[in-house]
Amino acid sequence: MAEVLVLAEHSADGEVKKVTLELLTAARRLGTPAVVWTGPGAQAAAARLGEYGAEKVYAADSADFTSYVVAPAAELLAQLVASVSPAAVLVAGTTEGKEIAGRLAVKTGSGVLSDAVNVTAGDGGPVAEQPNFGGSITVHSTVKAGTPIIAVRPNAISPEASAGAAAVEAVSFAASDAAKTAVISERVVAEKGERPELTEAQVVVSGGRGTGSADGFAIIEKLADSLGAAVGASRAVTDAGWYPHQFQVGQTGKTVSPQLYVAVGISGAIQHRAGMQTSKTIMAINKDPEAPIFEIADYGIVGDLFTVVPQLIDEIQKH
Ligand code: FAD
Repeated sequence: MAEVLVLAEHSADGEVKKVTLELLTAARRLGTPAVVWTGPGAQAAAARLGEYGAEKVYAADSADFTSYVVAPAAELLAQLVASVSPAAVLVAGTTEGKEIAGRLAVKTGSGVLSDAVNVTAGDGGPVAEQPNFGGSITVHSTVKAGTPIIAVRPNAISPEASAGAAAVEAVSFAASDAAKTAVISERVVAEKGERPELTEAQVVVSGGRGTGSADGFAIIEKLADSLGAAVGASRAVTDAGWYPHQFQVGQTGKTVSPQLYVAVGISGAIQHRAGMQTSKTIMAINKDPEAPIFEIADYGIVGDLFTVVPQLIDEIQKH
């Protein structure tokens, strides 16, 4: 079976991100998974990657990946597409992953299927399932030219272990001058022990305009911490400056697909839904029983969030 390249997402200290295991699970349906690892740490990560079905790890240990923005990773993938002719390339549907996918498609004359929530093998090549128009329709797409490049939404596919061992193969790589134009001058790394990363989290608690102010939004953080959850926000909140923009969920923010999404004081506008409606379970707290968020919620509480949320925290802390 042809190889399916999976671009690994990992932390600076080499910890494999969960989305990489999700990509490996999807890759197994399409062919033989082979991980593409940028920077140091491939050898240490190989066992973990093997547990999820990786048979090979292409390791390109170059400082270019930490010095320059995304372009070196796209060049490395293009180099591997040319040398191993994979059946497909899978990347995480994160901001960086999607940027890499687009650049790779231009370099290889291929098509990109972005924001996939499922991937299956089809007669005409890999089939990606994509929610469109804010999730109101679902399309199944294939790539007709070149090597299919698929950006898979984090948390959309459950990682499934598969016994195996991954052999590490060193790849020599040097970024072109063109790839060195955007330099990383500072990388902000979240400290360990803080909340989980928004797009990786199993549970996300998001707050909306109903929180009333930056001070009012603090109740969202308290609920999130009681659940070990990541914090998200609607655009109304980030535009008002109550919470930083990087936590915005929605069409123009992050896309999340956790096991549990708790929407507090959020009306459920289509642009917000676009970023969260593939969450496995949705719970909404809103004082307006007609709020559109209740149309997609599995559990709903109609009430004032400043009354409901403290009671919820109390109950959670009892268990
Ligand atoms: P509102 O719509 O004002 O809703 C507040 C809710 O809180 C109401 O339902 C109200 O009943 C409830 N509430 C009020 N007080 C309480 C209380 N005390 N207790 C309980 N409930 C209470 N939005 C996003 O979120 N993400 C995006 O990425 C995004 N991208 C956009 C892109 C474009 C091009 C456009 C045009 C818009 C975009 N928006 C996005 C904005 C979107 O249309 C909505 O305006 C926004 O999501 C509304 O945020 P909200 O639900 O917090 O506020």
